[in-house]
Amino acid sequence: MLEVKNLAVHYGGIQALKGVSIKIQPGELVAMIGANGAGKTSLLRTISGLVQPASGEVFIDGKLANKIPAHKRVAFGLAHCPEARRIFAQQTVHDNLLLGAFLRTKTEKKADIEQTIDEVYRIFPRLKERNTQLAGTLSGGEQQMLAIGRALMLKPKILMLDEPSMGLAPVIIDEMFSVINKIKATGQTSILLVEQLAFRALQVADRGYVLEQGVIRVEGNAKELLKNPQVKAAYLGVTH
Ligand code: ATP
Repeated sequence: MLEVKNLAVHYGGIQALKGVSIKIQPGELVAMIGANGAGKTSLLRTISGLVQPASGEVFIDGKLANKIPAHKRVAFGLAHCPEARRIFAQQTVHDNLLLGAFLRTKTEKKADIEQTIDEVYRIFPRLKERNTQLAGTLSGGEQQMLAIGRALMLKPKILMLDEPSMGLAPVIIDEMFSVINKIKATGQTSILLVEQLAFRALQVADRGYVLEQGVIRVEGNAKELLKNPQVKAAYLGVTH
């Protein structure tokens, strides 16, 4: 579904990724954990085409994507929810979701798009309650939900979430992880979840990778990573 092979990314003299290889199977939820500056955001930005790698390959749905520009990768079924929530503040919640389906509006019936909106509202009942509210007046957590809901409007095959819990209150973080579980349960989208909250991310994930200074140090089944002494010491200490 998604594969990167030997990805290297440089910013001037800084080498952010030093030969990263990962694989995500259809319907899988994969967590990418690592400290600040480990290269997690660089990896997502390279997969989505916003950063050009110095070497290595990105395959989306089996197709080599290196030469495909970012906006066209979206049409391949790749949705990227970056750390900064870029919602349209002056539009309503409902219109933000409709705008999320822009690529589908030319080829699909309005009824199909409305059906996806209903599916998104089922995952995020809070957004349904606030469907006529201007997005800029939503709370931070609700804006984060809207950003994810909008990405789902494209019916992506792969959803990449960059630190969805960032800046949210603990109770909203719980809601966020339950939403991620619900998206996984639909079975329609593979998810690459970048998270600082390693324990929470590994609890919902099927598999995980630990990225340190641009290198994958550990990978494996999420339940095994939760028990791995190296991972526990470095990333799970705070939550235990
Ligand atoms: P965080 O969790 O703090 O967001 P991260 O794991 O996502 O960290 P990246 O943002 O990918 O890490 O950064 C990896 C390294 O690359 C860091 O040393 C960072 O300073 C550097 N870097 C990232 N973007 C740029 C850029 N546009 N120009 C120069 N250096 C950059």
